[in-house]
Amino acid sequence: MKKIKVLTDDCIGCGACVGIDPEHFTFNDEGYSIPKSNENLDSEALMNAIESCPVGIISFEEVRDENTEKNISIEQTNDEEVGENVSIEQTDDEEYTENE
Ligand code: SF4
Repeated sequence: MKKIKVLTDDCIGCGACVGIDPEHFTFNDEGYSIPKSNENLDSEALMNAIESCPVGIISFEEVRDENTEKNISIEQTNDEEVGENVSIEQTDDEEYTENE
């Protein structure tokens, strides 16, 4: 899956991309550009916005499909439940030494 990538840390906030293609770009709270949408990536406005960036920090990146990400997501566990369900068995050190 292709996504718009903006190196926001290097953005100078000129507003060219947002002005040319408000469908795909917006400003963050600090006035720098961030991607807004990953729909309609073949649009002419998007290509113009990418070409118009004076510092050349807009590109595309390939990311894993969202369905794939869902398949490998890790479920968060409530800490309190873990405390109730997990017990740690203590080992007698002397007995352990004898078995070596
Ligand atoms: S055109 Fe480039 S420098 Fe200007 S706001 Fe967009 S990303 Fe930032």
